[in-house]
Amino acid sequence: MLADLGEMQQVADKYNIPFEDVFFLDLNFSGINLDVPYSRVRFTFKPQNHYFQTSAKRNESEYFFGLPVRPKSKHKISISDNNLFFDTEMVGKIEGLANDTCDTTYPRRGGTVMNLNANSKSTCHGCAFCHTLKQTPKDREDVSTESALRNFIDKWLQKYNINDLSNLQQVAVVTGCFGSEQKTVDHLTMVRKVFADYGYHNEIFYFGSEIRSDAAFEKLKREVDPFAMCISVECFTNRERMLRDIKRDLTMEEIARMLKKSKELGFKTNFSYILGLEPISTLKKGFEELLPLIDRFPVINVFQPHTDGQEILRNKDAWSIDYYMQARETLEKIFSDTDMRPRPWENYRGLWYLEFNGESLHDIRIP
Ligand code: SF4
Repeated sequence: MLADLGEMQQVADKYNIPFEDVFFLDLNFSGINLDVPYSRVRFTFKPQNHYFQTSAKRNESEYFFGLPVRPKSKHKISISDNNLFFDTEMVGKIEGLANDTCDTTYPRRGGTVMNLNANSKSTCHGCAFCHTLKQTPKDREDVSTESALRNFIDKWLQKYNINDLSNLQQVAVVTGCFGSEQKTVDHLTMVRKVFADYGYHNEIFYFGSEIRSDAAFEKLKREVDPFAMCISVECFTNRERMLRDIKRDLTMEEIARMLKKSKELGFKTNFSYILGLEPISTLKKGFEELLPLIDRFPVINVFQPHTDGQEILRNKDAWSIDYYMQARETLEKIFSDTDMRPRPWENYRGLWYLEFNGESLHDIRIP
């Protein structure tokens, strides 16, 4: 998106934000120019360049990314010998470069959050912007039944050398569509029961859009609480074109009702949004309307196209850095009077990294 590091610094100065927030946005927008036989990579990045002053001052030395590989593109960010380059300038070291496979389970927040992809997300497809289909599937290990989940947890305890799961802060069910509300609720209920046997009583988090009826919400209150819900909204308009069959029938009115119900029951409630598909005016209206219905900052992912075909979904305004800067300012204004803030550990392709509305963002940034 941007021509060189000097231009990134100018953008950072113009909008009075850290250089890092501009660089990482560009990284997520552009992907990595790399010659590998798969479509996504993940790695830990350790800045080593004078432009990354805020990281140096704050001792923020590690960042994690999952990025599209764009070998034939003109993108300027590349990797050579475990160094990250912007054009010809080395900007830092990378560690753990690997195929960003679609895994059955994975940690977040330094191993204190466990994500469960119990329903083979890699088999889910239909949303035009989704990258899951492009990932190498490594999510066929069965953790959908009670005994399989227990087996998996036993291995996790061994791996982390712990006796129970009381150290976890969140267990997240982040998977493709289950296909029915009943299956989704049954799975969440089973997860709570099994994890309780391993000393885990904190939040079960569900990311999806299949829990819709009042009866389902109330069952979750009785049997799964403390529970949190992120409704996968993704876009406010063009939903017919962008979303798969069982998601596109969810209207914005219905989403508002579900968010309201969730929040009323005391579940931590938010929604997810793909940034780059819609004009800023649409984003502003959508977030303003949903703001009273949530109590956790939305998961806002920068759109990462993996193919030229996906790239055409990008809104015409979203090819310029100003779009992302305007989105930041618009959303900072909307959320400034709330206590909701982005959580860097849960989003590696966000809109904010070190600063939100002039406030520093701190957290564990690696899985
Ligand atoms: S529901 Fe859509 S975004 Fe989610 S995994 Fe399936 S295709 Fe991808």
